[in-house]
Parts: sequence; structure tokens; C-alpha cells
Amino acid sequence: MKLIQVSTPGGPEELKLVDAPIPSPGPGEALVKIAATGVNYIDVYFRAGLYKAELPFTPGNEAAGVVESVGEGVTIVKPGDRVAYAMHRGSYAEYATVPASTLVVLPENVGFETAAAAMLQGMTAHYLTHSTFPLQPGHKVLVHAAAGGAGRLIVQMAKMLGATVYGTAGNDEKAAIAKSAGADEVIVYTREDFAVEVKKFTGGKGVDVIYDSVGATTFLKGLDIIRPRGMMALFGQSSGPVAPIDPNILNPKGSLFLTRPSLAHYCLTREELLWRAGDVLRWIGTGQLQLRIDKTYPLTDAPQAHCDLEGRKTAGKLLLIP
Ligand code: NDP
Repeated sequence: MKLIQVSTPGGPEELKLVDAPIPSPGPGEALVKIAATGVNYIDVYFRAGLYKAELPFTPGNEAAGVVESVGEGVTIVKPGDRVAYAMHRGSYAEYATVPASTLVVLPENVGFETAAAAMLQGMTAHYLTHSTFPLQPGHKVLVHAAAGGAGRLIVQMAKMLGATVYGTAGNDEKAAIAKSAGADEVIVYTREDFAVEVKKFTGGKGVDVIYDSVGATTFLKGLDIIRPRGMMALFGQSSGPVAPIDPNILNPKGSLFLTRPSLAHYCLTREELLWRAGDVLRWIGTGQLQLRIDKTYPLTDAPQAHCDLEGRKTAGKLLLIP
């Protein structure tokens, strides 16, 4: 089978196509024949060495496909099941062995590409809006990179929950995409000061929560536009990691709450995984949640997919098709 391997952390050129035998599922695992694999920013961090993995490794944390065979003790899925998963590395490949407990059986009305596009960013949007800072009607929210893969889905879920949503985007085209996802106002933060604009929109009061995936360039300024006892949910770092801060600064800014969450800690049990994935896939099936697949690439073009994602050229989801 073909797979992408990284032997040395570095640039997109380190994503090398190699041949390897099809693996056998161990106890508790399933072998999945991958139909579509999702590209996520976390794949960039592992490729570049910001997040550590034992070398060599196959990137990719999300896919959909068909169960080919199962290992000892697996009863959750069986060969022939259409499934999807997130948070298990190695999906830039034609086949992957995956812990069966991470697999979700797909509803009939959800295709492989849709599922591969929905799992990781969809469940992320779900935990941020339903658990990290559970939104209610009347809440005011700022979503950075609101036209991005995770951003567009957070905007939609925040609207489903009745919040007023302000978004940021890197250019006018992306601003229009964020608007069409439901954002009430979108700030082009490459030319406008988002803090000034958000203060205007909120009459100087600030927002209840910021969902910040951009990090270095947005984090500190964000702390100035959160209402007292509001929350900064810093869940990514597309512009680079945030420098260390003195926790005391949260006090004069309004006794703020700061969290740095990740999906794995919000899918601690199979029940939690099935709740989040079930909601996301059902909402896609009913049309309540709209995905935007920006581009699909053959597996061999994984380096190009990473260049496009890091180059801020994308709005929505990128997929690799093995
Ligand atoms: P996106 O589709 O959001 O792509 C990144 C976007 O970030 C760009 O399109 C760009 O949008 C914006 N951006 C701002 N500054 C920069 C910069 N200097 N370089 C590159 N991009 C920049 O990616 P994802 O949805 O896959 O991921 C977004 C972030 O969320 C990542 O940091 C990722 O790791 C994180 N994440 C965290 C999860 C968690 O559970 N903690 C789960 C999922 C994702 P624009 O041009 O509009 O500014």
C-alpha cells in the first residue's frame, strides 16, 4: 500500500510517498481501507516538529472508509462497516489500523468525503460551543479565522445555540464565506483592528468568549475585549505559539478564565465521542450544518495541501484521497 511518511521533521517536502505492507489489526483494533482523509493544522505541527512524534511516522489524524478486518475482541464494528474517526495518527495512507473504540459507524446519508471533512473540526466546534464555554441565546462570541475549517463550523454551531457571532478573516473573500456561514459581523483583521471593531459592536462591553485558533497575533489583544469573568478559549496557533504569560494579567483584564483545550480531553469516553460525532453527522445529514470542502488532493499531493494550508490560501476543509 502507499502511505506518506515523515522521517525528518521539516517543511512540506518531508512528506514522502512510500510503499509498505498492509498492516494487520492487533487486539482491539480495526483495519480501515481509507476512502478520504482530512488535512488538519495539527498535521503541520507534527510534520514541522512543533508537536513530537516518534520517527518515522505517518501523519493524518482523521479519515473515513470501510472496515476491512478486525482484531481480537472487537465487537463495536465488523468488516464492511462504513466508518470515520479522528485523533488517531496515520491516516495519510491507503490503509490504517485504528483502535476500534475511536470508530464511529456512518449514517447512510453521510458519504466518506463528508465524514472525513467533519469529524475532527466538527467535534472541535462541538466541544468548544457546548462544553468549554456552553453557549446560550444572548451570548456574544468572537471566532478568529472564521472562514477556516474549524472556524466556519464554530460560527454555525454558535448561531444554532442563539449567540451573536463576530468573526475575523484574512481577506474579503474569506469574510464573505464567514458571513455566509452565519456570522453577524466579520472583521478583516489584516487591515482593521479587531479589538476596536468588537468594542464598537458590543458597546464597549466586550464578548463573553473568544474562540482563538490563531494564537500569536491575536491572543493578547483578545484579552482586552472580553467582558469581566468571560473566557479566552485558546485552541490553536495558526500564526505561531503564544508566548508565556503571567497569570496575574487575567485579573486586571476582568477576572478572566483562560483555557487551552484539545479534542482528546473532550472525548474521554466512548459516550462522549458518540454524542459529539452523532450530533455533527446528524446535523450534516439534515443540512443544519454545512461543510465547505475547499479542495481535494491525491495522496501524492500532500505537500501541496500543506503549502496551501500554511500559506493561508484555504477556506474550509482540505482532503486527501488515497
Ligand atoms: P484553518 O482552516 O483555520 O487554517 C488556518 C487559518 O488560520 C488560515 O486560513 C488563516 O485564516 C488563519 N491564520 C491567521 N494567521 C495565520 C498565519 N500566520 N499563518 C497561517 N494561517 C493563519 O485550520 P484548521 O481549522 O485546521 O485549524 C485551525 C487551528 O485550530 C490550528 O491551530 C489547529 O491546530 C487548531 N485546532 C485545534 C483543535 C483543538 O482541539 N485544540 C482541533 C482542531 C484545530 P485567515 O486568512 O482568515 O486569517
